[in-house]
Amino acid sequence: MTISNQALAGLLCLSLGCSGASAQQPSVAAQSIVEIVPVGTAGGPPIQVDRSEPATLIRVNDQFYLFDCGIGTVRRLARAGIPTTKIKALFFTHQHPDHNMDLAALLSDRLFGLGLGRPAVPLEVYGPPGTQRLVDAAAHFVDAAFETFAAEGWGKNVERPIYTAREFGSGIIYEDANIKVYSAENSHYSLMKDDDQRKFKAYSFKVVSPNGQVLLTGDTGPDSSLSEFGKNVDLIVSEVLNPGAMRVLLDHMLHGTPAEHDLPGLLDHMTREHLDPAEVGKMATKANAGSVLLTHFGPENVSGGTDVLREAVKSHYSGEFFLAQDLQVYCLIGGQGASRAHVTLCRSSYAK
Ligand SMILES: [Zn+2]
Ligand SMILES: [Zn+2]
Repeated sequence: MTISNQALAGLLCLSLGCSGASAQQPSVAAQSIVEIVPVGTAGGPPIQVDRSEPATLIRVNDQFYLFDCGIGTVRRLARAGIPTTKIKALFFTHQHPDHNMDLAALLSDRLFGLGLGRPAVPLEVYGPPGTQRLVDAAAHFVDAAFETFAAEGWGKNVERPIYTAREFGSGIIYEDANIKVYSAENSHYSLMKDDDQRKFKAYSFKVVSPNGQVLLTGDTGPDSSLSEFGKNVDLIVSEVLNPGAMRVLLDHMLHGTPAEHDLPGLLDHMTREHLDPAEVGKMATKANAGSVLLTHFGPENVSGGTDVLREAVKSHYSGEFFLAQDLQVYCLIGGQGASRAHVTLCRSSYAK
């Protein structure tokens, strides 16, 4: 039996819920559903009250793809009503703790979600070198935590594999009927010593969906190759960091601590291995990006407010940009005829 795109979109709206905007526009309803959900919009390891750590979800029709998995991701997915068992693949941009520490929670929740049984399909995890070690360690952690359940007679059916891990370099790293994912090494680790730079890699991703293309910068410094990699994308999901505010935060954090803490080194990391808002604007203009979604925010109380970010981006980029909040839903609407694909905030929250 075949089913039209329009009927499929209608069925998906019934089962998963669609935005009012897409439901009211017949030409849109005939398209694939492509949603970008900033699941966690904080940046940096210290836990924030109002923002979860970095994770971005891309939904294409009834498939869900997760990019990074910082602390709080699983709770945010629960808030959104998206079972962890629905995550088809997880992609790590790089291995920093703010981007990967909820992996064990994700693996654990998938076991609970399947009634303490073996997942029918292992979680596919894609990441830079070191990812195999990371997911092995997370699985061991889950194993140890579940031992008592097994001793109590529960979870006897928990077997391996609960994941597959694939490490990648630059190039195409994933393809299925919905998306293609390309990776490009970026400058997030550019200050490391040469030996470490050979060992550790940080990547940006370009996701090609049925409705358009999305560049996920991950964490990166200013890097001219990034705008080439993301040339003409319809959306850039970009990290952003306010270096002035970060200096205030670091001064506060390190106040009175031993001198071996290297404040200049940390500031160098923040300015050369992260993107300030002006650099985001320049990159977006050079890439001819359709729109920009800013994420990976520092604590609001020391970031000088969002006006600083808005003004700096605006002075270098004339396109539309958004400041993400956890669980907002951005719809990527494919272009009709000569018109370009565009992005709209179609729901203020995925939360039920
Ligand atoms: Zn980060
Ligand atoms: Zn990082």
